Amino acid sequence: MREFFFLIEKRADRYPLGYILGEKEFFNVRLKIEEGVLIARPETEILVEECLKRIPEDKKITGLEIGVGSGAISVALLKNRPLLVMYGIDISEKALQITALNAKINRVFDRLVLLRSNLFENVPQKRFDFIVSNPPYVSEEEYEHVEEEVKREPREALIAGKEGIEFYEKIIGDGKSFLKEDGFFAFEIGYNQRKKVKKILESEGFRAITEKDLQGFDRVIIGER
Ligand code: GLN
Repeated sequence: MREFFFLIEKRADRYPLGYILGEKEFFNVRLKIEEGVLIARPETEILVEECLKRIPEDKKITGLEIGVGSGAISVALLKNRPLLVMYGIDISEKALQITALNAKINRVFDRLVLLRSNLFENVPQKRFDFIVSNPPYVSEEEYEHVEEEVKREPREALIAGKEGIEFYEKIIGDGKSFLKEDGFFAFEIGYNQRKKVKKILESEGFRAITEKDLQGFDRVIIGER
């Protein structure tokens, strides 16, 4: 009972529910969540759906995720495509530990290669069928106005410089040489970032397709050659 009131107090103090419960349902997987990783958002399920549309069920496809966090995206993709192999990187050791745990719980760990890497630094020189990422995309200015709960989540998973687009520039610029000729990029974006990210994709020779979330905000962008 003391523990119960302790938790109620924490929640009243705007401590995120996901961290209190230690679990989060995402797509059709159950994830363990701990402080130190972003709590998967329902909007991010759209990113998973758009990737799944482009991953055939009967082909051996290899994808790369930049910034796995809790593992939500990679684990959901692997769970829904039995022949898929994912490489997942993160700069955070904690994120890699939680992702490994979630991949094990969901029985997809044998098809996941995890590496500690700052962006492409330690990614093996090979060509992937797709590169997916929900990178940090909140601008420094916007971060001032996020909910108290969000401020308890890792800053390095959220903030991306003055405009919130620096990770798209890096991932698209450096990632091009890690993509097969017919490979695609799939990103989650902020509601006001469609034009800027589209421009980056187009300047690197990709066509951009955007998808909205359930609230009608631009949320996902796909780059295809
Ligand atoms: N949508 C998240 C938020 O508003 C941001 C996620 C991200 O930066 N990748 O908190």
